[in-house]
Amino acid sequence: MNISSINPVNGQQIQEYPTLNEKQVAEKIEQTHSAWLDWKKTTPIQRRTLMNRLAEILRERKNELAILMANEMGKPVKQGLAEAEKCALCCEYYAINGEGLLADQIIETEASKSYVSFQPIGIVLAVMPWNFPLFQVFRFLAPTLIAGNCGVLKHASNVPGCALAIEEMIVQAGFPAHVFQTLLIGSKMVEKVIENPRIKAVTLTGSTNAGITVASKAGAMLKKVVLELGGSDAYVVLADADLEKAAEICVASRLTNSGQSCIAAKRFVVEESVIAEFTQLFLDKMKKSVMGNPLEMDTDIGPMARIDLRDELHAQVLKSIEKGAVCILGGELPEGNNAYYPATILTNVLPGMTGYDEELFGPVASIISAKDENDAIRIANDSIFGLGSAVFTKDIAKGERIAATELEAGSCFVNERVQSDPRLPFGGIKTSGYGRELGSFGILEFVNIKTVYVK
Ligand code: NDP
Repeated sequence: MNISSINPVNGQQIQEYPTLNEKQVAEKIEQTHSAWLDWKKTTPIQRRTLMNRLAEILRERKNELAILMANEMGKPVKQGLAEAEKCALCCEYYAINGEGLLADQIIETEASKSYVSFQPIGIVLAVMPWNFPLFQVFRFLAPTLIAGNCGVLKHASNVPGCALAIEEMIVQAGFPAHVFQTLLIGSKMVEKVIENPRIKAVTLTGSTNAGITVASKAGAMLKKVVLELGGSDAYVVLADADLEKAAEICVASRLTNSGQSCIAAKRFVVEESVIAEFTQLFLDKMKKSVMGNPLEMDTDIGPMARIDLRDELHAQVLKSIEKGAVCILGGELPEGNNAYYPATILTNVLPGMTGYDEELFGPVASIISAKDENDAIRIANDSIFGLGSAVFTKDIAKGERIAATELEAGSCFVNERVQSDPRLPFGGIKTSGYGRELGSFGILEFVNIKTVYVK
C-alpha cells in the first residue's frame, strides 16, 4: 500500500510514498527503544542544546516548510510561516524551562528525605492530524524529548512530506539517531503499534472516532493516553461587548487555518438585543477575507485539506439550511477539482441543526441568538464538546467570572480568541478529550512520577 500527498488546490498527486510493513515497523520501534536506553541518561543541558538547535532550523527552513504545508494541505503560506515560528517557540520554551519543570519536588515527611522525581518512561506514540501538520507534532515532540522520552509519529496520511521533514530536522539538529522516527503507515496499523511492548504511551489529536479507537486499544493494553479531539467552541457575545472588536476577533478565530482548527470559534452565541448589529459587523468582515491560492501572501482562506472533508462540510451546511437555518454568505461549492469552500455564515441556528450540534470543520460560522446572559451561557454549554470558549464583555470582572466558573471548556478566554501557547496547558473536557498538552502539565503527562523515600 502507498500513501500519496494530493494538492487540494487542483487534486493532483504531489508524491507517492511506500508504507512500512509490520516487520519494518517493529524494527524501527526496536531502533528507537535502543536509542532511548542512551537518551534517558543524557543531561538536561545536552537535551536543551539540541532543542535550541532544532528551533533555529525551524526558522532557517520556515519558507520551505510553509510551501510544503500549502502544497500538501492548503494552508496559506503566511499562516504556515507563523506555524513554523510557533514550533520554534515551543522548542525554546521546553529547552529553557524543561530542567525546572522536571526538577525533584521535596516533600517533608518522617523520612530523612522524601521527594518526587520525574523519570522518563520510554517511547510515546503520537497519532497526529493534518490541520497543523508541524505544530501538532512539535507540541508533543518538544516536551517528550526534553523529558528523556523518545517518540514515533504516525502522521495523517495526507501530509507524509511534513512527517518526513520533521524527522529530517531532528537529524539535522544533531539528535542521536532514532530518538524520533516517522512511521509511514495507514491508520489500520496503529493498533499493532500500540500492542508493541516498547510503546509506553499514546497521544492522539484528531476526530472523536479516531480517539475512541485508539483509546480503546491503549486501554486494553493498559497504556496511558492523551486525547485532543474536536471542538465546537462557543464565543459568547454579551450586550455590553465592544461589538466591533468582538466581531473582528470572532472572524479571525473562525477563519484560522481556513476554518480547520479544533479551537476555532464555531458557534457565536449573541444576546438578542445586539444580534442584528453583531451579525452585520461579522458579515462585513467575513466578506473581506480573501480566498485563493495558498502560495500567495495575501490569501486568508486556502482550499480545505481534502475534497472529501470539504464535501462533508457542505453536506452539514445543507442539512442546517433544510432545517431552517438561513445562509447569509457562501454555502456554495466553487467549480473544479479542488477542495475550496467559501466563508459561510448560517443564522437562525437552533438545536437539532448540524450548525448547533456538530463540529463544522471549515470556514462556516453558526450565529445563535440568546435571550440574555444566562441563556447565552446555557447555550454555550449545550454541546457534547468542551475544548475552548470565549466571552466578550466590557465588564472584565463579569467576563472573568463567566470564563472561570460558568463555561464548560478546557480553556476560556475573555475578550480574546482561544489560542494555544507553549506556556499554558491545552486540552479539553467532555468529548473533546482528556489530558493536557503544553506548559508544565503537558511535560508531566508522560513521565514516571516517582516517589523516593529515604528513611
Ligand atoms: P482523523 O481523526 O481521521 O485523523 C487524525 C489522525 O488519526 C490521522 O493520523 C489518522 O490517520 C488517524 N486515524 C484515523 N482513524 C484512526 C483509527 N481508527 N485508528 C488509528 N488512527 C486513526 O481526522 P480526519 O482527517 O478524517 O478528519 C475528520 C474530522 O476529524 C475533521 O472534520 C474534524 O472534525 C476532526 N479533526 C480534528 C482535529 C483536531 O485538531 N482536533 C484535526 C483533524 C481532524 P489517517 O490519516 O491515516 O486516517
